[in-house]
Amino acid sequence: MNVYNEPAMQVPVVAEPDVLVIGGGPAGIGAAVAAARNGAKVLLVERYGFVGGNLTVAMVNPMFTFHDVNGKQVIRGIAGELVDRLVAKTVSPGHVTDLTFDNASMSPFDPEGMKLVLFELLQEAGVELLLHSTFANAYSDGNGKVTTVIVENKSGRQAICPKLVIDCSADADVVARVGAPFVKGRESDGAMQPVTLFYRVAGVNMSNLKAWMKANRHLLKDSPTDEEIDAQSALAFLGMKEIIKEAMERGEYPKDAAPRILMYELPQDGQFAINCTRLQGIDGTNVFDLTRAEVETRYQAWAVTEFMKRTIGGFEHAYILDTGVQVGIRETRHIVGDYAMTEQDVLNSRSFADGIACGTFAIDIHPPEGEQQVFTGSGKAVYEVPYRCLLPQGFDNLLVAGRCISASHTAFGSVRVMATAMGIGQGAGTAAAMAAANSLTTRQVDVELLRSLLMEQGQYLITEEAEELVDPGLRLSKENGSGGTASHHNPFADQVSGSKS
Ligand SMILES: Cc1cc2nc3c(=O)[nH]c(=O)nc-3n(C[C@H](O)[C@H](O)[C@H](O)COP(=O)(O)OP(=O)(O)OC[C@H]3O[C@@H](n4cnc5c(N)ncnc54)[C@H](O)[C@@H]3O)c2cc1C
Repeated sequence: MNVYNEPAMQVPVVAEPDVLVIGGGPAGIGAAVAAARNGAKVLLVERYGFVGGNLTVAMVNPMFTFHDVNGKQVIRGIAGELVDRLVAKTVSPGHVTDLTFDNASMSPFDPEGMKLVLFELLQEAGVELLLHSTFANAYSDGNGKVTTVIVENKSGRQAICPKLVIDCSADADVVARVGAPFVKGRESDGAMQPVTLFYRVAGVNMSNLKAWMKANRHLLKDSPTDEEIDAQSALAFLGMKEIIKEAMERGEYPKDAAPRILMYELPQDGQFAINCTRLQGIDGTNVFDLTRAEVETRYQAWAVTEFMKRTIGGFEHAYILDTGVQVGIRETRHIVGDYAMTEQDVLNSRSFADGIACGTFAIDIHPPEGEQQVFTGSGKAVYEVPYRCLLPQGFDNLLVAGRCISASHTAFGSVRVMATAMGIGQGAGTAAAMAAANSLTTRQVDVELLRSLLMEQGQYLITEEAEELVDPGLRLSKENGSGGTASHHNPFADQVSGSKS
């Protein structure tokens, strides 16, 4: 490959915060707000002109999952507060039942309302924002300390010299640039989950749609009853697998798209978030792959919508309101941290002495090949994420939060969701503020104190005193994401538990 040697240049130092957060997604929001509330001077760098990450950029909806299988809210803290604020602004119905993957709840929201509420949260906490700024590079002192971060924006290149950095870029961009170890995707071959362009449709006639669902319940997962359809304050729709298979064979449905319809009603009348496009073999850290994904998934979105208009009652006059600013990337780099979460940690509902956030979402893998697989947990079905998963090896003032934490490909299938990402962010931000205030390295932070502080500030963590209700019927189960009988009491659990990829 031809190369060009870019000349060295002088770069102005524009900020020296205690805590620098790269990326304003759910993890970055949790991290920035928590660090600022705990007294740190915080700068949040985001490449777009608004924050939210997949909540807004990729238009992913709804947020999963705040409640365990017994209906107890186990994601609280800043993420819980966010939902309360969205409800108060009437841009979310709050937590509603999930009819798609049998999680105890889902939390839909209007993405435009989300953008505003997130700015309010950040500004009230005193977080300084640097928008329209892309993280470009980072330098270390050679002794495990990141000293300088370079961003690129309309003003040119700028340097930031923080005490601590929290990498919430989702792709572990900072970690990769400073040379800390990471892995990509599945352990066996590095393959990653496929990408999906989310988009919104508007103009759906809700009463016609409900009538169609009642008349065609056999096409929908678990064949919901009239009462279940009517009771949904935010309708969730999963199914049509066979019809789509036939349509694909006839060339009437994009062959690479997900072979089922999955969509969620949004707060505005007649709007749905559509989770149907799909492209395999994309590396979200490769710009040529990203370019191809943006083009192909937009063609898919239009073709899927045409299919829906022809096939689903109530969709006759529906139209694409907007597509995500960018395609949604499910998986790229996982850092190699001091501990990597395992599938068994999730399935066995493990708690840890250094647990800083909880997760309770099923393991939901869109495999690099084949159909979507969902595995529900066992035991208490709520697990903790250890602080050690946030610590990249070899660095002492660098943390990560969000989807790039240290976790196996399978554990990641649960940890990755937005409510959990925000909880992990709160853990990271609180730890960073403690380190900054006391001139500590990330590994010198007293985790017992960190846990107490987090709980004092509303984060739910598993303690000996906590009364965990165990569902005795809860089993490891598997279903293919459409048309199955997903259940926490799946009688086929034992037969399939060993067959997972
Ligand atoms: C298609 C799809 C469907 C999903 N479905 C659901 C669902 O239904 N419910 C759910 O809860 N979760 C879902 N998820 C998972 C969830 O959206 C993500 O795992 C979660 O958003 C991760 O949070 P994060 O903060 O780590 O990253 P992100 O949400 O990706 O946020 C990262 C932020 O960092 C910014 N950034 C990145 N690189 C740079 C850089 N170099 N410089 C500056 N800024 C940068 C980005 O612009 C973004 O704002 C889905 C994901 C995908 C892709």
